[in-house]
Formats: sequence, structure tokens, C-alpha cells
Amino acid sequence: AKRVVLVSRPVGEPKASDFRIEEYAPPTPGEGQVLLRTIWLSLDPYMRGRMSDGPSYATPVPIGGVMEGGTVSEVIASNNPGFDKGDIVLSRAGWQTHALLDGKALTKIDPKLGPVSTAVGVLGMPGMTAYTGLLDIGKPQAGETVVVAAASGAVGSAVGQIARIKGARAVGIAGGKDKCDYVKKELGFDDCLDHRDPNLAAKLKDACPKGIDVYFENVGGAVFEAVFPLLNPFARVPVCGLIAHYNDTEAKAPKWASSLMRAVLTKRLTIRGFIVSDFAARHADFLRDMSQWVREGKVRHREFVTEGLENAPAAFMGLLKGANFGKQLVRIGPD
Ligand code: NDP
Repeated sequence: AKRVVLVSRPVGEPKASDFRIEEYAPPTPGEGQVLLRTIWLSLDPYMRGRMSDGPSYATPVPIGGVMEGGTVSEVIASNNPGFDKGDIVLSRAGWQTHALLDGKALTKIDPKLGPVSTAVGVLGMPGMTAYTGLLDIGKPQAGETVVVAAASGAVGSAVGQIARIKGARAVGIAGGKDKCDYVKKELGFDDCLDHRDPNLAAKLKDACPKGIDVYFENVGGAVFEAVFPLLNPFARVPVCGLIAHYNDTEAKAPKWASSLMRAVLTKRLTIRGFIVSDFAARHADFLRDMSQWVREGKVRHREFVTEGLENAPAAFMGLLKGANFGKQLVRIGPD
């Protein structure tokens, strides 16, 4: 068996030498435990936070520890009456080919619901993030304008499509023409702009003639600066992620922090951070609605597959820079 461990805490962008691939002998399950073989490893931006030991809502991966991550795995040996050999489960097995876990930490996946990879994508954590952040905090109303960046990605793609289902106008922001074309033509957003365009702010203003009512914040940085002046009174800003800043080495006080607070007051903005697990009670609603929308073709999704555990570090480094086009997965073993 193989696993990827954290060797050093990155300063700025992670590099290949921050990771090491190790071989190990998979252990046999003790009482209540199951041995898993990984099929799909999900790579997600939050993993950058786990590599650092600064203050966070979650504990970091220890140096020498296996990189954390959600997986779709198959039970290959079970010492737990709740699981049989061959069961497909959602687990937090991390970046490794095999894992020994307590049955309590696993959720069975019904392969009849669709390709099992969707359990870490559109029907899993990223889909649930889009659903809860948009509906429970953003609360888009028919005719309103919703803006989301990283719009071709796992979370952003679902945000815009759910906004459309609710009758809102969806404007995406993504890196490059191919992603913008996909967001407009395949996902049906009303518009999509390239965040690398030097005229982003002016183009966003044209694309949002009635201002912005919901800004689903995935990115921060220059995108937020373009969005901020366009926020309407009573706009809602679910703060989901700030990927433009994950490699920052120092906190930069925005030169306009005071104007931000002034706008929060005068425009009565709601800016609310959230972690998807805050909305655990909404999981059944999410699965019911999202699986129906996916079946009906109202929510489309795209997977970006990297082959082999040894390529996981490079794929993760690419994810932070937009090299992925869709939900980033690593195929560790056959379905
Ligand atoms: P994506 O599939 O969207 O991949 C990340 C994307 O971020 C890249 O493809 C790239 O897209 C974009 N990006 C990277 N750097 C920049 C930048 N400087 N400016 C603009 N865009 C950038 O990942 P996810 O859908 O999994 O995650 C999206 C966001 O949601 C992240 O911020 C993540 O941390 C957050 N998140 C938060 C959760 C929560 O519970 N709060 C749970 C899950 C995700 P492009 O090429 O278009 O620039």
C-alpha cells in the first residue's frame, strides 16, 4: 500500500518537496474496524489550510502524518457487522491506497444513485456547500442577480445553477475563455467573465446592470474588489472560501477596510462566513433536491480526473491555481 505524508509546512505555494510517498503494509481490522481500498480521492482547496498550523477551525495535519481527505472506498475486509466486503463507502481515509477505519466513521454509498464519484462532488461536500451557502445565507429571490467566482469548479458551478433554478440571474467569474464558455453554454449561466481580464470591474458592472444582490464569495482578492462597489442595499454575501489568499504569507490589511465597514452599515449588507458542516441538519434536504436536479439535468457537473496517488500532490498544487476544470478527483483504484 502507498500513502502521501506531509513533510514540511509550505510557506506560500505548496511544492513537491512538502509531500512524500511512503509504502506501508495495510494492517488487519480489529474489533469494529474495516479495511478499505480507495477508489476516488477528492482534492479540495481546504487541504491547503490543513498543511499550515496557523489558527483555524480545524486541526492541521501533523508533520509525517497522512494528508487528510475525503474518499470513496471499497470495503475489502470487515470486522464490523454493519459492513460487508464489497460495500462502497464515503470515508475520510486521506491520501492513501488503503485505510483501516472504525465503522462509525463511514457512510455507505448507494451505487444505484449514480456514479459513486459524485459522493465527493455534486452529491457530496462541494454540492452541499453550494446548496446551503446559497439558499440558507444568500437566499436568492426571483429576478435578483447572483455572482459567483470559481464558477466552473465544484462549488461555483452548482451555485450558479441553483440560483437559476430559483429564478435569479447568474453571473459567473472564471479563469479563461474555455471555462467561461462552458459556464455559459453548458451550465446555462446568464454571463461569465474572466477574472484575469484587466477590465474585470467595468465588465462586471455591464454584466450586472441592476447591481448584485448575492455574492457567493469563493475567492477574495481582485474579484471581491470588483464586486464590492456593485453590491445592492441588503445584499447577502455568504463567505465560503478565499482561495486567492490561501498561499498568502502575511495578512494584508485592505487599504479600504474602513469603506467596507461603512458599506456594511449604509447598505445593510449581510456578510456571513460558514463551514458546510454548520448545516449538517440540511443534509437530507440537500440530497433530495440535488439528486433530483441532477437527474432532471438542471444541475450539470464536470469531473477532472488525475490518475494515480503519486500524481495527487501535483494535482493539488494545480487546483490552487486553476489547472483543474471541474471537480478535482484522483483515481486511486478501479470502480
Ligand atoms: P474549485 O473546483 O472551484 O477549484 C478551485 C478554483 O479556484 C480553481 O479552479 C480556480 O478557478 C479558482 N481560483 C484559484 N485561484 C484564484 C484566484 N486568485 N482568483 C480567482 N479564482 C481563483 O474548488 P471548490 O469548488 O472545491 O472550492 C471553491 C471554493 O469553495 C474554495 O474557496 C474552497 O475553499 C471553498 N469551499 C468552502 C467550503 C466551506 O465549508 N466553507 C467547503 C468547500 C469549498 P479559475 O480557473 O476559474 O480561476
